[in-house]
Amino acid sequence: ASNQAMNFGKSRARFQMEAKTGVKFDDVAGVEEAKEELQEVVTFLKQPERFTAVGARIPKGVLLVGPPGTGKTLLAKAIAGEAGVPFFSISGSEFVEMFVGVGASRVRDLFKKAKENAPCLIFIDEIDAVGRQRGAGIGGGNDEREQTLNQLLTEMDGFEGNTGIIIIAATNRPDVLDAALLRPGRFDRQVIVDAPDLKGRLEILQVHARNKKIDESVSLEAIARRTPGFTGADLANLLNEAAILTARRRKDAITILEINDAVDRVVAGMEGTPLVDSKIKRLIAYHEIGYAIVGTLLEDHDPVQKVSLIPRGQSRGLTWFTPDEEHFLMSRSQLLARITARLAGRAAEEVIFGLPEVTGGMRENRKLELATAIARQMVTQYGMSEIGQFCLEAPNNEVFLGRDWMNKSEYSEEIAAQIDRKVREIVNQSYDTAKRLIQENRTLVDHLVEILIEQETIEGEQFRQIVAEYQSQPVADGAT
Ligand code: ADP
Repeated sequence: ASNQAMNFGKSRARFQMEAKTGVKFDDVAGVEEAKEELQEVVTFLKQPERFTAVGARIPKGVLLVGPPGTGKTLLAKAIAGEAGVPFFSISGSEFVEMFVGVGASRVRDLFKKAKENAPCLIFIDEIDAVGRQRGAGIGGGNDEREQTLNQLLTEMDGFEGNTGIIIIAATNRPDVLDAALLRPGRFDRQVIVDAPDLKGRLEILQVHARNKKIDESVSLEAIARRTPGFTGADLANLLNEAAILTARRRKDAITILEINDAVDRVVAGMEGTPLVDSKIKRLIAYHEIGYAIVGTLLEDHDPVQKVSLIPRGQSRGLTWFTPDEEHFLMSRSQLLARITARLAGRAAEEVIFGLPEVTGGMRENRKLELATAIARQMVTQYGMSEIGQFCLEAPNNEVFLGRDWMNKSEYSEEIAAQIDRKVREIVNQSYDTAKRLIQENRTLVDHLVEILIEQETIEGEQFRQIVAEYQSQPVADGAT
């Protein structure tokens, strides 16, 4: 946000306008290809006659696709800055919670103001919040969102490409967008804005080092090497943190000490923005609560430490358990509890949303893999099945990774088949247990989900308290 930002139309039309963004392409680094593609948009705005003279239709909309913090907003501002036109912006997530009719009229107001100020650029952040495929909402769809989307489509169709308005939208989820948005004459151009590689990170660091005093001994390249996975926003944040620490320590220039501390801080605070879409959010909330509740109801499971909807890295929500002690010795029921809990998120999704809605994704596959690996170890290493009280495979050090099962088969194919059957049986039974626990405690699960959506995190203490309260009620299940 900029100090030049202003709000239009009091409460009804909250979008921002910056007469001059002051941002140039030079301020955006590590996204060369995107800049090249967007260079032409600057020309559309500055010299539209070059295109219209030869009868070319000027594109109206460009979709910037990439994860948060990679510089999409910055790029849009740079286009406006390079072209010297005003920058209007609004965020799709703001539409989501509004009353019926407000979103659509806000879109109308925005385009009206933009036409009065043409040539100009309209930036719609998080367009997926409003631009999701229509008719895909949970519980009968979201009329408000669809009305807003329809209004946006109408507005985009309502002006000619040479009106001098270019609309740039940003999203991390192009796959969920309504196809109508991507048709010719709408957002028919896509530009990828990815997280930076090593060279990109170095260039971004150079941009943000420009206005900072950094000790000569500090190598920006070394910092770039240490920060894989950092986005432009993380890197900007890193140098700013380092500068703040330097000032606090009353030093003249940023040294490697401040950089090191700042890296730690940024890593610790690297949490994504909370989810906005209500269906996905609900699904994840049920998943995490399922995991946490089953882990809690099973006596032999570690206590839950925290449940959170704040995405981090690859995962969209998180549940932590505090391991009680070292797990060198685990009983059969402890192992079963672990398997059951790891399957519980998926089980919750199935119970609540039905089998077709169950999600996959890296982290889910990992949980399934872990559950299966534990079951397999029970059978092959701990002698915990009828196949026999003997060790069929040498325990490896990577206790729960269970990667090399196949390489170690010193038993017959018949035993191998028995093992497979037994492992599947354990996993299936555990899954059924998880499902049953969720079904039996549906009221509690629903209640916890509401709290999680409201608070975004539930600490273990509060979680156990809610469960205890619920369990002490005389008639719990299904009672309303
Ligand atoms: P997005 O819109 O993709 O979520 P932003 O453009 O809002 O990301 O980035 C936030 C801030 O992070 C920017 O204002 C800038 O300071 C820094 N930043 C992000 N990406 C870059 C980049 N590619 N080059 C330089 N700075 C960047």
